[in-house]
Amino acid sequence: MTSPIYLIGARGCGKTTVGQALATALGYAFVDTDHHLQHVTQRSVAETVAAEGWQGFRLRESESLIAVSAPSTVVATGGGMVLAERNRHFMRQSGTVVYLNAGAGTLAARLQAFPHDAQRPTLTGRPIAEEIEQVLTERDALYQQTAHHVIDASHPPEKVVQQILDALSPARAV
Ligand code: ADP
Ligand code: MG
Repeated sequence: MTSPIYLIGARGCGKTTVGQALATALGYAFVDTDHHLQHVTQRSVAETVAAEGWQGFRLRESESLIAVSAPSTVVATGGGMVLAERNRHFMRQSGTVVYLNAGAGTLAARLQAFPHDAQRPTLTGRPIAEEIEQVLTERDALYQQTAHHVIDASHPPEKVVQQILDALSPARAV
């Protein structure tokens, strides 16, 4: 299989961390839509949101998704990528979509332990754990319906990578 693999899920679920390790395991390239967007705009995500609003940011996010999509590539997507129907459709029809599913407690613990990895302004200005609960409530159904495979991402990264490899090649799983 050489079509792209898209990793979706909330901020902190491990799209970047697991995506890089998965790409290495498969001999695939790795790209991150947020990094692409930052390269194009020469701004941080927070700066783009401040300058262009969330709507402007979402448009650029869709453009980045299409721009980075390529064969033999693992694509880590922004947490809100699934909000737009066109993004969900594009990912499902052009590749394999993997949802890295983790609970709000796990996500909050990771983001609090590594606040520098929280690249985005909070959506609501409320405490991070509350915001994550709300975001998951709003988006979990979209992540689930977009994914070809739902993976338990609460495990250590190596185990998450192995679960994905097993899901991608069921015949070779043991
Ligand atoms: P995302 O790209 O989905 O926002 P990251 O890969 O940046 O998530 O991970 C967020 C933080 O959580 C990072 O500090 C990372 O080291 C940590 N992390 C990611 N995946 C795991 C995991 N499976 N187990 C423990 N910590 C993880
Ligand atoms: Mg990331």
